[in-house]
Amino acid sequence: MDFGIAGKRALVCGSSRGLGFGCAQALVAEGAHVTLVARTPEPLQAAVERLRATAGEGIQVQAVAADIVTEAGRDAVLQRTGADYDILVTNAGGPPPGDFRDWGTAEWQAALNANMLTPIALIKALVDGMAARRFGRIVNITSVAVKAPLAQLGLSNGARSGLTGFIAGLARGELAAQGVTINNLLPGFFATDRLRATFEAEAAKRQVDVQAVKRARLDGIPAGRFGTAEEFGQLCAFLCSQQAAYLTGQNILLDGGAYPGTF
Ligand code: NAP
Repeated sequence: MDFGIAGKRALVCGSSRGLGFGCAQALVAEGAHVTLVARTPEPLQAAVERLRATAGEGIQVQAVAADIVTEAGRDAVLQRTGADYDILVTNAGGPPPGDFRDWGTAEWQAALNANMLTPIALIKALVDGMAARRFGRIVNITSVAVKAPLAQLGLSNGARSGLTGFIAGLARGELAAQGVTINNLLPGFFATDRLRATFEAEAAKRQVDVQAVKRARLDGIPAGRFGTAEEFGQLCAFLCSQQAAYLTGQNILLDGGAYPGTF
C-alpha cells in the first residue's frame, strides 16, 4: 500500500535508535524527507548514514544533535531545519523507575518537562503551519503505562497521562477539520536499549539473573516475544498516512496482546 506521504517533511525526535529510529526508517521507506534528533552526535550520524543507504532518490535525511527537552534544543532544530513540517513524531527518554517517596519537585518537573511539556511545545511550534497547509500528522510515543500503569513507573504514569488528557482535547478541537490528526502510540515491551537497561536495573535491584527478569516479562506477553522497532515504525507510518486521515485523538496500544482488557 502506498501511504501517500512521499515528499512530506517529517521531524522525528529521539530517533538515533530504538522506537524513534524505527519510525524514521518507516517514514523514509514511504518517501518522506526526515529530520532525526538525538543528543549524542556519533550514533545520530550513524543512523543518518543507515537511512541514506536505503532512501530512494531525492529523499532527504538530515539530523540535528540537540536535547529536545530544552527550549534551546528545540529552537536549534527548528531554526536550522525550518518549521514547515507535515509530520511530527514526539519522543524522548522515559523517566527513571523508583519509589514515589524518593521523588521531589525536581524529579517531577523533569518528567513533566520531557514527557508532557516538550511534546506540547513541539506541537505548538508546528501545528498552525500544518493546519494552514491542510495536512498534518502528529504521533506522540507514550507508553503502555498510560493504560496499564506499573507502580515503579509513577513518573511516567503521571507525566504521560497529563499529555494524554491534553491531546484528547486538542485533537478534537478545530484541528480535526483542518486535516491535522494527533494520536498517541503506546509501546508495550519492545526490544530496545531502554528495555535492556530496564531489565538490568531490575535484576540488579532484586539481585536475580537478568534472564529471569526477561523470562518473567515474556510470560505476560501472549505473542511470546518482544516487539521490534521496525513493526512499531510501520504502525507509526500508517498513522502518518493519507489513509489515516479519519483517525484522530486515539491511544493505540502495540503490545503483543499483553493488556488483558476488552477495550
Ligand atoms: P531508547 O532505545 O533508549 O532510544 C531513545 C532515543 O531517544 C535515542 O535515540 C536517544 O538518543 C533519544 N533521546 C533520549 N532523550 C533525548 C532528548 N532529551 N533529546 C533528544 N533525543 C533524546 O528508547 P526506546 O526504547 O526507543 O523508547 C522510546 C520511548 O518509548 C521512551 O520514552 C520510552 O520510555 C518509551 N517506552 C519504551 C518501551 C520499550 O519497550 N522500549 C515501552 C514503553 C515505553 P540520545 O540518548 O543520544 O539522546
